Amino acid sequence: MTIRPNSLEARDIAYHLHPYTNAAKHQTEGPLVLTGGEGVYVTDASGQRYIEGLAGLFSAALGFSEHRLAEAAYRQMKTMPFYHAFGHKATEPGIALAERLIAMAPVPMSKVFFANSGSEANDTAVKLIWYYNNALGRPQKKKIISRLRGYHGVTVASGSLTGLPYAHRDFDLPLPGILHTLCPHYRRHAEPGESEEAFATRCADELEALILREGPETVAAFFAEPVMVSGGVVVPPKTYFEKIQAVLKKYDVLLVADEVICGFARTGNMFGTETYGLKPDMITLAKQLSASYLPISALMISETIYAAIVAESEKIGTFGHGYTYSGHPVAAAVALEALRIYEEDGILDHVRAVAPRFQAHVARLGNHPLVSEARGVGLVAGLELSPDKTTAFDPSLLVASQAARFAQNHGVITRGMNDTLSLCPPLIISEAEIDELMQRIERALDDTRDWAR
Ligand code: PLP
Repeated sequence: MTIRPNSLEARDIAYHLHPYTNAAKHQTEGPLVLTGGEGVYVTDASGQRYIEGLAGLFSAALGFSEHRLAEAAYRQMKTMPFYHAFGHKATEPGIALAERLIAMAPVPMSKVFFANSGSEANDTAVKLIWYYNNALGRPQKKKIISRLRGYHGVTVASGSLTGLPYAHRDFDLPLPGILHTLCPHYRRHAEPGESEEAFATRCADELEALILREGPETVAAFFAEPVMVSGGVVVPPKTYFEKIQAVLKKYDVLLVADEVICGFARTGNMFGTETYGLKPDMITLAKQLSASYLPISALMISETIYAAIVAESEKIGTFGHGYTYSGHPVAAAVALEALRIYEEDGILDHVRAVAPRFQAHVARLGNHPLVSEARGVGLVAGLELSPDKTTAFDPSLLVASQAARFAQNHGVITRGMNDTLSLCPPLIISEAEIDELMQRIERALDDTRDWAR
């Protein structure tokens, strides 16, 4: 693309450091500038329309033109545009949102702490786990285990939990005391002849061995996404969470369910925790919590954890944690409105109605010569690419990123992650739009196959 002087693209290259972008490449390629949206479509500065095949970042559940959210923000801006929650202060939307989340929680939860991003919610969870164990008089029980290829954010603690090499490399992460165990990707990690259940048993055995090696008295918590979406849409093998949770229980290790992507109907239930029978002590939420129209995240904690925080903060004199924008009233008002829309428009029923068609297309694309595995649940899926259905592409080819570029040429925005092309459209997508999305993806796969020959 030619970049005109003083264009948006040129100014972006001149001034903007982009997250998760190859900074060197950006200097010549420049940005794709998005200027508008309608339903599941977004439009770029040249007027080209795309289906948002990833709902932005797995997050714009209601698409890009939900005026009720804009109006909720404006109404709140006019009455109380900002107030914080430090030192016993509160605003009505923050109270109502906390109440609503506790009522919706998939397992009994006691309190909600608000933050602004998934990373901050997970960082808060780490700090509360340490605080909790100090309150209980076991200061040595602090280590945290997450999974290779898991994604929990990029801040110092949440970036350490993330089990992806580029989130650590040259950032001097992970922090000591944050450990990673096997990724439960059956097709990739199972041994020849090993059943899904036997593989799940091996994952749980590896977790147990790690806990025993470290000393159970030093291991505090285990973080898991119900489906590992950012790491390549890894759906847990049968019996996985049942077996993992038995190990956690045996060694008194807390479970944190990272529902930042799965939360709010993505997997066909309101929470991934329900889809996979999790019994978490804490749950983190973000993204679809506000349909991403404003930044807000939440951490829900159990009564047991809350009781320890009460005792510890009484001893210290305060609970010394919080963000200026924790429970920001405008973001909370938008989140509340999103939750109302989910309920009034029956978003869960809609997901359940259209997901079979989405997954049928995914299964069909699994037969494409370039696809070695098609996996997914609800309205999220990953297509793993391979030159011959068994071996892997040379990682330096960045084949899935190339496939995403071809998809963009065919009017779909999505992302490639290692060798997996992800699909995670806005939850409001119709069956006709699913058909259109999948036809375009199929053309992108054909182009990628020709390119890779
Ligand atoms: N947890 C999960 C499961 C995520 O997918 C993400 C982001 O993609 C995060 C946490 C981090 O959220 P944020 O980017 O809002 O910090």
